[in-house]
Amino acid sequence: MAEQIHFDQITIIGAGLIGSSIARAVQRGQLADRLVLADESIEVCTEAQRLKLADACMTDAASAVEGADLVVLAVPVGAMASVGAAIAPSLKAGAIVTDVGSVKESVFKSLSPLLPAHAHLIPGHPVAGTERSGPAAGFASLFDSRWCILTPPDDVDAAALERLSAFWTALGSKVEIMTAPHHDLVLAITSHVPHLIAYNIVGTASDLETVTRSEVIKYSAGGFRDFTRIAASDPTMWRDVFLNNKDAVLEMLGRFSEDLTALQRAIRWGDGDQLFDLFTRTRDIRRRIIDAGQDEAEPDFGRTHKG
Ligand code: NAP
Repeated sequence: MAEQIHFDQITIIGAGLIGSSIARAVQRGQLADRLVLADESIEVCTEAQRLKLADACMTDAASAVEGADLVVLAVPVGAMASVGAAIAPSLKAGAIVTDVGSVKESVFKSLSPLLPAHAHLIPGHPVAGTERSGPAAGFASLFDSRWCILTPPDDVDAAALERLSAFWTALGSKVEIMTAPHHDLVLAITSHVPHLIAYNIVGTASDLETVTRSEVIKYSAGGFRDFTRIAASDPTMWRDVFLNNKDAVLEMLGRFSEDLTALQRAIRWGDGDQLFDLFTRTRDIRRRIIDAGQDEAEPDFGRTHKG
């Protein structure tokens, strides 16, 4: 059996959905002698303490990282640099610093000049989440069987990378390693553009003059409500994602617009074969996602239908 990964102290900055889920999974796996949380919000810290998510929760990130051999930054992408600057002087020699931000290249570029050479910066992104925010929204099994992508720099310390990979495996994840620019391109199409489409369609529906808002809500089971789940995601987090993954998102949006125009033309010219072929291919993608264990096979996302 592989040796159990263990840390003297893990510090997580940001006690929201992802940070609190990591805390719960660390407790579940007994992965640290001491677990410390930090959040700039006193209300969040009080809630985290009430939920017994860590040995301590403090508002001062610099004090929270003292003595930590693993530091996880779980704040919005736009807050990574200020947190990095705040903790840099307090990092102990050999500490691994990672993050969970949904964008990787900009996070690495903003953090790496701030951190001392004696710390190992290895960015990461667990591809798992929900539309909820805050410490009460987290749960220990969030990362089970989900991918966690690590984007180490070329000169990464091999032992630190191995330790961080083992940490994510102990949280329940499958670990993949890729470059930061490739991560940002892949996530642009699998996550960022789908969120933008959801925000856009829900925004368009709420602005219509000829269909009332109450009709949109009343008949939402026709497909619209599945977009509203994604469009309910945290505004701060998603603003930061689009501002920090500009190039990849614009590239994928260009491709998306071209394909949408082709569909518009197919509808205008009554080209049923083109529509049918595409819808057949997309149905196959859904089947492959289920086969890969990335979603459940229940119809209608497992909603219970009474009567
Ligand atoms: P969240 O639930 O809103 O939690 C973020 C927490 O960080 C909040 O409690 C926030 O406090 C705190 N915070 C913000 N700025 C801070 C600072 N400067 N110092 C200390 N704490 C600070 O968000 P989340 O969903 O956990 O997202 C956190 C990170 O995970 C983001 O980078 C996101 O891109 C990434 N991620 C999210 C998902 C997802 O599905 N949600 C999935 C994978 C990765 P306030 O509320 O007071 O601002």
